[in-house]
Amino acid sequence: QMEARQPGFNPQTLVETMVWDKAHQRVVTSSEGMEGGAQPGVPFSSLRLVDVELEPLGHISDQQEYRVMVGYNVIASLLPEHRGGEAGQVGTVPFRRLEDARLRLVNLGPRSSRTSAPDGVGFPVCTVCGEARSPFASPAEIENFSKGHEEVCGRGTSWVALHADVRSELLLLGPFEDDAAAINAVVALQIGIRRVLETGDQDLEVMTLKEADDREVGVLFDPMPGGSGLLPLLRQHWGEVIQAARESLSACDCESACYRCVLNFRNQQHHGALNRHAALNALTDIDGSFKATHAIPPSFVEQSVDTDAADSKAEEWFTALLKTKSFPLYDAAQYQVSLSGGSHTIADFAFTTAKVLVFIDGLSKPIHGNPEQQRKDKVARAKARAQGWSVVESSAQALKDKTMAAALLDELAVYLEAVEGD
Ligand SMILES: [Zn+2]
Ligand SMILES: [Zn+2]
Repeated sequence: QMEARQPGFNPQTLVETMVWDKAHQRVVTSSEGMEGGAQPGVPFSSLRLVDVELEPLGHISDQQEYRVMVGYNVIASLLPEHRGGEAGQVGTVPFRRLEDARLRLVNLGPRSSRTSAPDGVGFPVCTVCGEARSPFASPAEIENFSKGHEEVCGRGTSWVALHADVRSELLLLGPFEDDAAAINAVVALQIGIRRVLETGDQDLEVMTLKEADDREVGVLFDPMPGGSGLLPLLRQHWGEVIQAARESLSACDCESACYRCVLNFRNQQHHGALNRHAALNALTDIDGSFKATHAIPPSFVEQSVDTDAADSKAEEWFTALLKTKSFPLYDAAQYQVSLSGGSHTIADFAFTTAKVLVFIDGLSKPIHGNPEQQRKDKVARAKARAQGWSVVESSAQALKDKTMAAALLDELAVYLEAVEGD
């Protein structure tokens, strides 16, 4: 169930500007970067992937036209929102556990420099219809692709990175004495988990993160929406998992790394750093019980948005409001609903499963300000209610008003919970 199938869906809202700090292998979202002045690095656009469970970031399947082994440059960054957790030490290594955190994974494109990408970043995508070409396609093919979509979609090729924001519990391990130990530790844990826990086809994902101090930490997260419960199980069976990983890594007879021990297709970005002996050492570092030394308070993004800014900000405000209060995100913007009598109305946001429409009046002031339009809106919304939709209405300015925004969320929660309950 892709957002893009919703009528009136505008994929441009999924494009964000980011900066790639090549020297430190970090990606910074432009809003973060602007706070601390100019961010050194390569600016690029990235298209957010929605409801795809990370598949395009690394999996390969028989359905793909070209089953080639392409290594992608995927960079993880921790977004500032989470519901708190705890920090302390496990073995000799610092750990942090964050509830309901956001991990952003940005796929900058193939690691090979032989792509046609102008800045060496991204995939050629029509951001209007979502069609794409291989980044290895010839310049002539990309030119042809661009022309075709310019005619039909009104916009040529954009070279965009692809990103997904994973919402998961996170276990962060590190920094270790040696930065390379971070990836070896989490890959080794992944091996142990598969042997000890009944994971079925579920798996914990591993990544590394560059912290602000440029130190590397290992990250374990759960790619299942809503969580598969593997992370709490891992902590519970920590000792057994470490022991199983040790046995598996010691049993191999390769010199440093091979596909029987630490290497797999998904971790090829880290093949240079993976080494079964380093992994065994990293396991020794993290062998011990979790000693939490302090709680991490929940962190929400403080939005400092200019209240006088135009209506175009309303979507940003509404999204930020939902995120801050840990609400599920709407699954369509500018959602068209057909009404009785052959007419239709366009809701600014829709939660299609819960059947909730959100109208933010003032998104286009001249239309909504006029009394005749207000009467029409009222009738259209009544018709939508008659079809089983719940309707929530707000003015754009009210989204920035803490009291009114809270009232809006109270109302929205009732409609969303009603569905969750059954
Ligand atoms: Zn197109
Ligand atoms: Zn091996």
